[in-house]
Amino acid sequence: MKTFNLRSARLRSGEEFRDEIELELTPLEYGGQRYLPVPDTVPAELVLSRASTGTVFRLRFVARLYGPCYRCLADAVVELGIDAREYQATNPEDSDELRTPYLSEDTLELDAWARDAIALALPEQILCRADCKGLCPMCGKDLNVEPHEHEEERADPRWAVLAELRDKLD
Ligand SMILES: [Zn+2]
Ligand SMILES: [Zn+2]
Repeated sequence: MKTFNLRSARLRSGEEFRDEIELELTPLEYGGQRYLPVPDTVPAELVLSRASTGTVFRLRFVARLYGPCYRCLADAVVELGIDAREYQATNPEDSDELRTPYLSEDTLELDAWARDAIALALPEQILCRADCKGLCPMCGKDLNVEPHEHEEERADPRWAVLAELRDKLD
């Protein structure tokens, strides 16, 4: 697990600390599908700014995920520019708003933070291309490869006559 110890930054109030780090990204489950980060190790910039009231954490990196298209299941790739911020008050007391969940004691849990930041940045649907036509709901063929429509199955008029007769007999 990738972590960062705040004590190593030796930050005083009014100071800023910057570090180039490496993040290890893990596969992600999304919409019942699995997406793989490629590469799974990415460079990231970590910035800590300390004020007397608290510390701002900023994490920036680019994640590229590979997995199936939401509509047609062909290979899709999504690239996300992540710029995540967290805040920890010097005296958070019992307020969750003044506390980042990724900090325990003096240790910043970078893996968990990166994972959640990616999940939040994901588009609603991961697509092979913006105008993917998807699979045909009638026959399951890929509509990008084989664009087609199905004639609606018309009701046989003879059945209508029979239904009418039956109504009369009731
Ligand atoms: Zn598609
Ligand atoms: Zn079809």
